[in-house]
Amino acid sequence: MGSCKTCWGRKTIDCPVCRGSGKTYVDGKPKPCHNCDGDRKVPCPACRGTGTE
Ligand SMILES: [Zn+2]
Ligand SMILES: [Zn+2]
Repeated sequence: MGSCKTCWGRKTIDCPVCRGSGKTYVDGKPKPCHNCDGDRKVPCPACRGTGTE
């Protein structure tokens, strides 16, 4: 059991949809990212948010 190598124990990763910006652009207009709800981070999929593996 060690730190997750995907998030390095941070439990979250930059949202891959908005690439950590919290926004997506629809027809040139910024919208809160639907994947992270504008939080910019999502729970790490590799460790499911536990930070360990
Ligand atoms: Zn996002
Ligand atoms: Zn992780």
